[in-house]
Amino acid sequence: MIAEPPPLSGSVVHDEVVAARAPWIHPVRKGQTLRIVDLEGNQAVDFLLYNAHDDAERYSAQDTIAAQANIFLCEGSVLRSNEGAPMMTITSTAVAYHDTIGGACSCESNTLRYGHHTKSQHACVENFLVANATQGRGKRDMVSNINWFMNVPVEADGTLGIVDGISAPGLYVDLRAEMDVTVVVSNCPQINNPCNGFDPTPVRMIVAG
Ligand SMILES: [Zn+2]
Repeated sequence: MIAEPPPLSGSVVHDEVVAARAPWIHPVRKGQTLRIVDLEGNQAVDFLLYNAHDDAERYSAQDTIAAQANIFLCEGSVLRSNEGAPMMTITSTAVAYHDTIGGACSCESNTLRYGHHTKSQHACVENFLVANATQGRGKRDMVSNINWFMNVPVEADGTLGIVDGISAPGLYVDLRAEMDVTVVVSNCPQINNPCNGFDPTPVRMIVAG
């Protein structure tokens, strides 16, 4: 059974379905909430954040993990910048934990992991580059990302797994902006591992407040 998401406070200022495999870029102002809905379940949403007024300040997985002393992102987690400042807070989520250590898929990593025949398959790094290029950012602005709804357990020997998701149709995560941010998303096109159930699907983005 799917828990109903809590009502969003304020009015909805943006509501959009992002197609399977597509990039997305959008501003979220301080105090607004971004809700990401995993419409069909088991869809990894690769995610970067930049300070809307100075994009040299951006999401930092390292600062976030160090500050909360936990490698998983859960309800209450504060997403921190490379300057240690709170950028967004997970105010509510129907999924127990989300990943920020698995990274984004790329043509290069696909080739290494799954064989040369995957070289021309679309990947998250390309989506990030396409979306960021609209604001003048390039490869040097790519940093370690968040993977919403992606299940990356750490095994007893310290290795990472990419396994079947713990998300399901209609599950969501709510993120309250603690500063004006630019959100950059790749709705992950990966088809060579179970992160998208081998079938990339659309997600819904709602901004309210
Ligand atoms: Zn991906």
